[in-house]
Amino acid sequence: MSGGDEVVVALDVGGTGMKCALVRPDGTTVHTERHDTGAQRGPEAVVGTILDVAEGLAGKARADGRAPVACGIAVPGVVDEARGVAVWSANVGFRDVPLRELARTRLGLPAALGHDVRAGGLAEARLGAGRDAGHVLFVAIGTGIAAAHVVDGSAATGAHGAAGEIGHILVRPGGPRCGCGRTGCLEAVSSASAIGRRYAELSGAPTTAAQVAERAAAGEPLAVEVWQDAVEALADGLATGQALYDVSTVVLGGGLAQAGARLFDPLRAALRERLTFHREPRLVAADLGDEAGCLGAALLALDTLVKESR
Ligand SMILES: [Zn+2]
Repeated sequence: MSGGDEVVVALDVGGTGMKCALVRPDGTTVHTERHDTGAQRGPEAVVGTILDVAEGLAGKARADGRAPVACGIAVPGVVDEARGVAVWSANVGFRDVPLRELARTRLGLPAALGHDVRAGGLAEARLGAGRDAGHVLFVAIGTGIAAAHVVDGSAATGAHGAAGEIGHILVRPGGPRCGCGRTGCLEAVSSASAIGRRYAELSGAPTTAAQVAERAAAGEPLAVEVWQDAVEALADGLATGQALYDVSTVVLGGGLAQAGARLFDPLRAALRERLTFHREPRLVAADLGDEAGCLGAALLALDTLVKESR
């Protein structure tokens, strides 16, 4: 790849919004846009919007004298990256949508389809907090908990496009009910929404995870208890992750990671207690914020070009 005028079109499609960008081969962003997903309109309308926005971005690139050379799209749910199909998504409603082929046809450019969290992990591992680490586990903690295992700049997808569902590791048998239908999953205890919900149940007042972190730091007993439970369950999940993946760096992203030292200090200690012969990974906060998924989509697009030139 050569020339500073080449860009890829990148879209990160979420349940409520799309983060979009034109990105150079070196990973720098030259233009960003945000659009509503409008998921309530149904999956067909969402696909139409994705293609319109992607085409618009390619047009914007050309108008600015740049050459769009590929397109990358990241979506939530179960994604078959090898076939380029959005298999299933709870919040966008996709059912077997051949999004890669649709984008390739509409734009006339090579295209890649990826999973949002795996794309975010890819970006953190190659451009962000996990740079130069080689073996990285990226864990996004927000309304749910999901992970991406990235080895030498490539995220494992799993045989069915569903790798990285670390949020559904069983950490508290018989514990709180999870969105997946089982009880005691990691995300039913340690996700930002679970922390807020648990505290609200016990105190009777609606509360966010950030408020629980703040109150725990101030020594409020109920908040201390809820926060500690969440941190310990998270350490259980990460210890399982380390037993499986033996990474050098764990990158924590999503809303909960913004609690900073209130999360990282006790979590580091709790994880250390749980590891015996396994090596302790470096535990760091994500660098790229909510742009990670979009940058990851750009990297997938660039990888497509490298594959095609072979
Ligand atoms: Zn679950």
